[in-house]
Amino acid sequence: MNWQDIFATRMGRMKASEIRELLKLLDQPDIISFAGGIPDPALFPQAEFKAALNDIFASGQGTDALQYSVSEGYKPLRDWIATQMAALGIPCGADNILITSGSQQALDYLGKLMLSKNDTALVNWPTYLGALGAFNAYEPQFDQISANSNRSATDYVQTAASHGGQAKFAYMSVDFANPTGETMDRRARLSMLDLANELDIAIVEDAAYQSLRYDGEAIPPILALEIERTGSIEDCRTIYCGSFSKTLAPGLRVGWVCAAKSVIQPLVLMKQAADLHSSTINQIAIHKVASTGFDAQIEKIRATYSQRRDHMLNALTTHMPKGVTWTKPEGGMFIWVTLPPHLDGAKLLAQSLKTQKVAFVPGRAFFADGSSGNTLRLSFSCADEDTINTGINRLGQLLQSVV
Ligand code: PMP
Repeated sequence: MNWQDIFATRMGRMKASEIRELLKLLDQPDIISFAGGIPDPALFPQAEFKAALNDIFASGQGTDALQYSVSEGYKPLRDWIATQMAALGIPCGADNILITSGSQQALDYLGKLMLSKNDTALVNWPTYLGALGAFNAYEPQFDQISANSNRSATDYVQTAASHGGQAKFAYMSVDFANPTGETMDRRARLSMLDLANELDIAIVEDAAYQSLRYDGEAIPPILALEIERTGSIEDCRTIYCGSFSKTLAPGLRVGWVCAAKSVIQPLVLMKQAADLHSSTINQIAIHKVASTGFDAQIEKIRATYSQRRDHMLNALTTHMPKGVTWTKPEGGMFIWVTLPPHLDGAKLLAQSLKTQKVAFVPGRAFFADGSSGNTLRLSFSCADEDTINTGINRLGQLLQSVV
């Protein structure tokens, strides 16, 4: 049987990444890895989750926690999230929140909700690889959006039409983006809103790293800026995606969408059809831990990650040769490095794993058009000071020899 004849055409777009084979080497104990984009497990609030789970069973909540529950999500958790959203300048109610299995599921659902084959998703160049993967299943086209571009709305419309569809949304990771670590300033957020208004498309605001700010002034989410203009979330085109993965625990798979009810309602139907609801016990545990200790947890991870960011920035300044540049993120987990144009991040990774035993993610995969191979992503979230110094020193030596 030839499975390729049986599989849907959309599977043709879902390719295993070429760097996966290389990254398998990361399991070797002598490799220093700046490749993963994951939280440091030493910072997980384990005692708090243990107490929460004990409490669920001790207080007689065990039967509810192990039972099916509503597709919208656990109401006390949605209420708690709505209060948090209000503090960010997004007054809303539980009806404006859908709990998803991580914000990754929200991206999949939003692709499913809005993209017909050959419609265009506008994305940054580079953008979060997982978003490209999620949207790809719906066979869209990608076009580049940037706050600094002076492309006209007509140009976007014509480009989308030339691909046989229309632009449906602009996706952007707004704070400490994956992979660049960069943050969109207020002016850029407002200009994106203006463009979305002109194009009459939605904005998908990915706020996965929103709580991880280490310095600088917090900038209101695009959804908050839009509510300042329209007066109500119900009249907004921005769809906000949040996550507990970077703050509490990614393994519990709890994220959320916050948007107008006219967006949440069809998403609830989608959730019902896809997996009925996110894990009940995980939502209850997240609610217990978040409602009693969210701020303390944020303080703890900010203190650790901000030091690691500083160490990595200092190490880059000390060890990188001229011609290599990098971003200076105000939060998150990532630094984005640009190499001289003749170098390729993927080739450098192969060499680095062999001779320097240092891993990172080559940048090309983050570009929807596969361009800009002379880039790479470093993550500082899981490495201590010594590891950062040693790893960046070794990477610097390799780069000194090739630039
Ligand atoms: N958005 C961005 C920008 C991310 O980096 C990630 C995780 N790497 C996600 C969404 C998805 O995270 P989760 O599903 O765990 O919420």
